[in-house]
Amino acid sequence: MSRRALITGITGQDGAYLARLLLERGYEVHGMVRRSSSDRCERIAEIRDRLHLHPGDLIDQSALTRILAKCQPQEVYNLAAQTYVGASFSQPTMTAEFTALGVTRMLEAVRQVDPSIRFLQASSSEVFGGTQEDPQNEKTPFWPRSPYAVAKVYAYWITVNYRESYGLFASNAIMFNHESPWRGSEFVTRRISQGVAKIKLGLADCLELGNLDAQRDWGFAGDFVDAMWRILQADTPDDFVIATGVRHSVRAFAERAFARVGLDWEKYVRVDPARLRPVDVPSLRGDASKAQRVLGWRPTVTFEPLVDMMVDADLAALSREHSLSHREQSP
Ligand code: GDP
Repeated sequence: MSRRALITGITGQDGAYLARLLLERGYEVHGMVRRSSSDRCERIAEIRDRLHLHPGDLIDQSALTRILAKCQPQEVYNLAAQTYVGASFSQPTMTAEFTALGVTRMLEAVRQVDPSIRFLQASSSEVFGGTQEDPQNEKTPFWPRSPYAVAKVYAYWITVNYRESYGLFASNAIMFNHESPWRGSEFVTRRISQGVAKIKLGLADCLELGNLDAQRDWGFAGDFVDAMWRILQADTPDDFVIATGVRHSVRAFAERAFARVGLDWEKYVRVDPARLRPVDVPSLRGDASKAQRVLGWRPTVTFEPLVDMMVDADLAALSREHSLSHREQSP
């Protein structure tokens, strides 16, 4: 009998990578998807017929219980959330509802339906926000700096609490930023790679960004979903920082991305003050030595190949789209 896993947020970047990894490892993969017209399934379109999708929502306790009872997974990966820091400032209570309380609902469902289920909570480096410690590890005190980060701190602790209170195998992956060609276009890396592709093809003449000085520890999403899987295969539940340990600025990301297509970033990038956040997280860098030691996990994709991969993918996709629409227009 193959193992069964349930992924919430399966239509997102990480869900799409994790679903593929679990299929490759012989899992029966179930996914929870919101019944929403705006929900897009393109990241899982190619594997759609190998997945079992269930309509459900982190807001709906009875749906979570019903889905768990129906698919009887041994592993649950909770990736669904309102994941965008910027939007959390304008939608703070909605963010708390999904990103914080949604986790409690899922843990409650696990506890009631089958407490032997292993539970992975996708935590975030944003919990460290304003910290002065560098790099950040599992012992670094939290200092959340956005409604999103505050919700993720709650989510972290409720996961620990269900582990301590009820003995659940519940673990946190405290993941630093991780990117890919499937990253949502509201995040800065994808905004840059799409902007570069548009400029290169003559479809735009500039790219507006916010804080260019912000520094992040950017890794590859494909590496990070492997870490999530390893966390649930460990002997005991625990919390792990997942990061590359290397940090770059938004400016450096833009510089590399423009250079990939032979352009000088300074000619095209403009700072739009409207894109600055009420407070920003200036710099994050993770120390994943515990994950390396206990799980044998190590990132395989470094910064430059990651930027190049994203720019190349957007350039190819946009060229295809563009030449198709040209062909349709010509008689
Ligand atoms: P986050 O680390 O989860 O907030 O990931 P983002 O990719 O959204 O943002 C990373 C950093 O890039 C933050 O410090 C942002 O303030 C900064 N940044 C600069 N310009 C932009 C922009 O145009 N969009 C976004 N999303 N972030 C930007």
